[in-house]
Amino acid sequence: MNSYFALTSEQVQNAVTAVINSKPVYAEILDFYAAVFNAQEASKGRLQLQPLELSGELRAAKAREKLPLIGVEEFAYDEKESAALFVTLCRLAQEANPTLAATAGTILTAVEATLKPAALFEGLLTGNEALFENTADDLEIEKPVLGFFTYNSLKPSLCACADQLAVYLDSQEPWLQGYCPVCGNAPILSILEEEGRRKLVCGFCWQSWSAKRVYCPYCDSSQNKELHYFYSEQEKDSRVDLCDHCKKYIKTIDSRKVDRLIYPPLEHIATMHLDMKAQEMGFNPGIRLFMQV
Ligand SMILES: [Zn+2]
Ligand SMILES: [Zn+2]
Repeated sequence: MNSYFALTSEQVQNAVTAVINSKPVYAEILDFYAAVFNAQEASKGRLQLQPLELSGELRAAKAREKLPLIGVEEFAYDEKESAALFVTLCRLAQEANPTLAATAGTILTAVEATLKPAALFEGLLTGNEALFENTADDLEIEKPVLGFFTYNSLKPSLCACADQLAVYLDSQEPWLQGYCPVCGNAPILSILEEEGRRKLVCGFCWQSWSAKRVYCPYCDSSQNKELHYFYSEQEKDSRVDLCDHCKKYIKTIDSRKVDRLIYPPLEHIATMHLDMKAQEMGFNPGIRLFMQV
C-alpha cells in the first residue's frame, strides 16, 4: 500500500542526507532523528508479532459502518523488542539530543529501578493519561518526553501491525474518510503524487490511503472558499493546507517535486518550521504531535 515510501535503512539514510543537503538548518536535529529512524527500522526487522486476524463478517460490518479495522488498544506489539528499543532511544537522546539528554538519563535510571516500559506501552494504547502524568510527576520530567520515548518504542510494532492489516482493506472500495482505515487516527501528512492523486498518512500507524484532492480531512469541508494553502518560494515541494472551517492545517509534500524517496516520519520532522508558521497564523494541528519533541 505504501510501497513507494523508503523501506530500508539505506534508503532512509539517503533520504535524510538529501533533506539535510536542501535544508542545512535541520542538520543537527536530523542527526538525532536519523539515529532514531535507524534504530526503529532495525527493530522492525527483529519483531515477533502474532498476526491480528479479523473475520470476513467483522470486516464487512466495519466497512459498512465506515469504521477502522481496529481500535488503538487492539494493536499487537513485541513487548521485549519495544522495551529494548525504549532503552536504545533514551541512550541515543543522551548522546545526540541536548534538549532531551537530561530527561533521557532520568528515565534510564528509573528503568534500572522500578519503571516498567511495558506498563507505559499498555498505558499509551489504552489512553491512560493519568499514568503518564503520575510517572512524569514522580520523575520530575516533562510528560510529552515520556510520551515521545514510549510512542517511538512502540512504533515499529504499530507500523508492522498496520502493514499486516492493510491487506484486509478493499482496494476496489475507496476509503473516503479523513481518518485512518486501519486504526482510526487522524492524518499527519498529505502527499501529492502523479496525476494529481493525493494520499493521507496516518499519524499513529503511518499507513497511507488515497484521498480526495481538495478537501479538509479533519472536518470534511470541500468548499473552495474555506480551503487555501501557503508555501515558501524556497521549498516548492512542501506546503501547508489550511481550513478556515475548522481552523486546522495539514502539511502536504509534493512527491513530484522531490528526488528522494519519501519517508513520512522524516518529512514530518523536516517541516517543523511549517507547523510553527501555521500555528502562528492561528491554525491548529489536526493531530496530537506526540512523536516529536
Ligand atoms: Zn493508522
Ligand atoms: Zn477543516
